[in-house]
Amino acid sequence: MAASIVVRRYQGWHHWTPLKLQTGYLREAFNIQMGSAAMYPLKKKETKLLRRQLPCGNSHVTKRTLHATPLCFQEVMLTSERYEVQRLPFAHVSDRDLSFFECLMPGGVITDEDELKPFNVDWLKTVRGYSKVLLKPRTTVEVSEVLRYCNERNLAVNPQGGNTGLVGGSVPVFDEIILSTALMNKIISFDSVSGILVCQAGCILENLNHYLEQQDFIMPLDLAAKGSCHIGGNVATNAGGLRLLRYGSLRGTVLGLEAVLADGSILNCLASLRKDNTGYDLKQLFIGSEGTLGIVTAVSILCPQKPKAVNLAFLGCPSFSQVLRTFTTCKGMLGEILSAYEFMDNECMELVKRHLKLVNPVAESPFYVLIETSGSNSAHDEEKLSNFLEHVMATNLVADGTLASEDKKIKMLWALRERITEALACDGYIYKYDISLPVDKLYDLVTDLRARLGRSARSVVGYGHLGDGNLHLNITAESYSHSLQEAIEPYVYEWTSQYCGSISAEHGLGFKKKHYIHYSKPREAILLMQQFKAMLDPKGILNPYKTLPVKAE
Ligand SMILES: Cc1cc2nc3c(=O)[nH]c(=O)nc-3n(C[C@H](O)[C@H](O)[C@H](O)COP(=O)(O)OP(=O)(O)OC[C@H]3O[C@@H](n4cnc5c(N)ncnc54)[C@H](O)[C@@H]3O)c2cc1C
Repeated sequence: MAASIVVRRYQGWHHWTPLKLQTGYLREAFNIQMGSAAMYPLKKKETKLLRRQLPCGNSHVTKRTLHATPLCFQEVMLTSERYEVQRLPFAHVSDRDLSFFECLMPGGVITDEDELKPFNVDWLKTVRGYSKVLLKPRTTVEVSEVLRYCNERNLAVNPQGGNTGLVGGSVPVFDEIILSTALMNKIISFDSVSGILVCQAGCILENLNHYLEQQDFIMPLDLAAKGSCHIGGNVATNAGGLRLLRYGSLRGTVLGLEAVLADGSILNCLASLRKDNTGYDLKQLFIGSEGTLGIVTAVSILCPQKPKAVNLAFLGCPSFSQVLRTFTTCKGMLGEILSAYEFMDNECMELVKRHLKLVNPVAESPFYVLIETSGSNSAHDEEKLSNFLEHVMATNLVADGTLASEDKKIKMLWALRERITEALACDGYIYKYDISLPVDKLYDLVTDLRARLGRSARSVVGYGHLGDGNLHLNITAESYSHSLQEAIEPYVYEWTSQYCGSISAEHGLGFKKKHYIHYSKPREAILLMQQFKAMLDPKGILNPYKTLPVKAE
């Protein structure tokens, strides 16, 4: 069978395909993709939103921000109106409060309505608050002073990193003060023997990665929002992303953190030790707490060595069961060099083609998988990959595929998967679900929802981190509709719960999913979480209306 497979080699880019496929196709795809990289220049205003960071100890960093397509500032309905939320009895910001903040951090207090707009709306343009003040502290002591004051005055505070969160947790519901970590962007130390990086919470993930690459290391996490999200936001959401399969979750790689509690006290757990069994591991409380227990101000994180050889395969699979069998084969044949296994359905491919003008580099298939290997010996890795590809094509698990080993081409292939979120944002209002399920059930939910919703939805698509059992189920419609929402929720959560899945694999609960926590956590666990919250933030000033229901439901 292997003899029937043609291996085409372009510079750093090999195409595995059955004989029938045309030769010029890939070159054409490649050229168009090259063009597309320059097709989305950020407009000035958008640049402001996405680049409101300082260089993180490295002024020559080239930043790759999220693309501009969905970022026009059309008016989004106020969260409090769409969801009929009642404002809790927090104080309102007075002129005296503003004078205090201005005195504490001159130039770090923003009250201009236009400047505040992007900080009040989430990236998806689905929730909006009306905060009148944005604070940009530079130091932990300033954060501490702000919280001490707000706690005394009973002023609610919404911590914000890069504002790329997808569950409505990063923006106020009413007029909460927005505390942005944008100016807390200094690298504190990096130890090139242990690979331990210590930095302030507002460092942009991609900047950190650039900094580390110069020292032959990388960040242990990677996500499509890397050009805008902050490491503090990543920790606060316990972000998963594309490298989790290889390097594990932040719960393992974050070695320590510093956080400011609601009353202003500073909790310094910024250890840089791999082993430390002295008492409870308090940092875990803050990882994934979505700004409700404290503001993360600095992080110590264990970073892996930069792999010497990275290869990426983009493959078309005829069915989801073949996607799964390719995964098991891939684990068996690529083992220690496997660093990502992502999948997307053809509906996702149609969206990135239609809205972002990306080009499918392989023959159309119902499903596509992206397999990344990261190793230390390129000849060895390429040989392993070649054997694997020949095997999956000979056994008809894969219909067509292409392989890239050059950085530029790797990025182009990754764009097909990473820019789905952006393509969806161009497709209309998005109902977004981020589910963990047993892998064999993963796609059934998409098929089921497609049949259930029929023509009331514009698109129902599935993609995600298959290697982690994580499905991103997205439904788009022309605009928000309460009846469509009711057709989806709680149906999706009930469906997930019956297979003991998680209703939020990596995005958190934020504002949108807090009432559904009981589908994934028992009553006792929710009660204990509420007790922790009450102990650490008795007045509830930190990110109110988010993550936990007020009473166990
Ligand atoms: C295109 C795209 C792709 C994405 N891909 C992934 C993915 O693969 N995996 C994934 O897990 N997520 C993904 N996300 C979601 C999002 O990027 C992550 O949740 C990210 O970690 C949020 O970081 P941020 O700095 O933008 O935080 P924000 O969005 O600003 O805030 C998120 C939450 O954390 C809180 N918070 C922020 N900073 C702090 C702090 N310093 N201290 C305490 N609380 C804080 C906020 O109050 C809020 O509740 C994606 C988003 C986009 C737009």
